[in-house]
Amino acid sequence: MLRPYILFMVNLLNAIDANRLARHIEQLSEIGRTAQGGVTRLAFTREDMAGRKLLCAWMNEAGLEIYRDAVGNLIGTLRGRDENAPILACGSHIDSVVNAGKYDGIVGMLAAVECARVLKQYGRLNSTLNVINFVMEESSRFGAGYGFGSRVMAGFEISKQELFARDRSKVLQARALQELKGWETDSKIATERTALRESEKDIIASRFDWSRMRAFVELHIEQGPVLERAQKQIGIVTAVAAPTRLHLILTGEQNHSGTTPMNMRRDALACAAEMILAVEKIANEFSARHVVATVGVIQNEPNVMNVIPGRVELRVDIRSANGEAKRACVHTTQKTIRAIATQRAIGLEIHTLADETPVSFSSAVVNAIERVCIAQNMDALKMPSGAGHDAAHIARVAPTGMIFIPSRGGISHDPREFSTIEEITRGAQVLLGTLLELDN
Ligand SMILES: [Zn+2]
Repeated sequence: MLRPYILFMVNLLNAIDANRLARHIEQLSEIGRTAQGGVTRLAFTREDMAGRKLLCAWMNEAGLEIYRDAVGNLIGTLRGRDENAPILACGSHIDSVVNAGKYDGIVGMLAAVECARVLKQYGRLNSTLNVINFVMEESSRFGAGYGFGSRVMAGFEISKQELFARDRSKVLQARALQELKGWETDSKIATERTALRESEKDIIASRFDWSRMRAFVELHIEQGPVLERAQKQIGIVTAVAAPTRLHLILTGEQNHSGTTPMNMRRDALACAAEMILAVEKIANEFSARHVVATVGVIQNEPNVMNVIPGRVELRVDIRSANGEAKRACVHTTQKTIRAIATQRAIGLEIHTLADETPVSFSSAVVNAIERVCIAQNMDALKMPSGAGHDAAHIARVAPTGMIFIPSRGGISHDPREFSTIEEITRGAQVLLGTLLELDN
């Protein structure tokens, strides 16, 4: 016999309107539509502003009071019955990469608004609900770190270097930020110098108070093939992977490819080849612990057919949501790479470009999502996320969790990105259920 609370929850979850979600996804995808059928809505552009306007209209319709912080994050509030209850939050982003799909960020954002609409219509939560739209999640325009808006809200330091970054048209990030503000608040658009000063002030002013936050939950498409392959409906994300990046500089001896006998060579590229295969082999050994490693960059000098390569640079990206496994993999990789260089008498420098700590999500939130999936008879899989998300930043300051839905073919950041409306609706239902579960 189901408890009355569960029955109440089941009724409410059925109130998620699949048609409305589908319609809103289509409408938003028309803004910044590309010739290839994708979407380009880079952060702080006119397209981004148009998308945000539409989103604001939908947030208003859902009954949310909207607050725009100084950097442009939108925080919609639905007041709860109990002023003193802890706060709940959900949300995502609607900016995109170049020629993106329609679903990355959008699904989580529109589902969050839909949850608010249902909650407003059918009885309020005890907790106040914040529906958050994070500004500039994607790093594509300025090439700095992802999740600018969530880092600002979480109170991370934003470096001057990042604000000084420029896009392809040489527009300064700080200036773009002020441009969006100008369009949305009818204020004057600043010169670069004042834009930088203003942006620094805006960043500090946009730190959010997380002290009363019981949980932040983000719904997102998986952007990978795991759920589809495993034939699971929902992913319960336990952690977000973080990279360690190595820059390797190999120095051999550049020489004539015809006159130098094989046993008298110090070929930097042949050595690099052995290292690349070693990186792959070691990552395979750690793959059961969700470690992946990639050598994505080779620079070979002089890169001429009749010259033995004298210098090679490699860039290695090693990722995992399991910090311990990643550390062990990085350690083994470095040791093996050094041994290969020594054996081939090749000079080697290893520089660590990044060494980030993976984020684990709150077990209270993970368990709440799991209880909802069980109560709803949904086939769920606990899994780490290989990609970064706003939720990973919020997890540093508040109990946080994420819900994944399958991505067809595991394809993302491409016009072919696709999830069915049934999958999206199911995701929205789990999000709503989780909010109710955490409110209860
Ligand atoms: Zn995203």
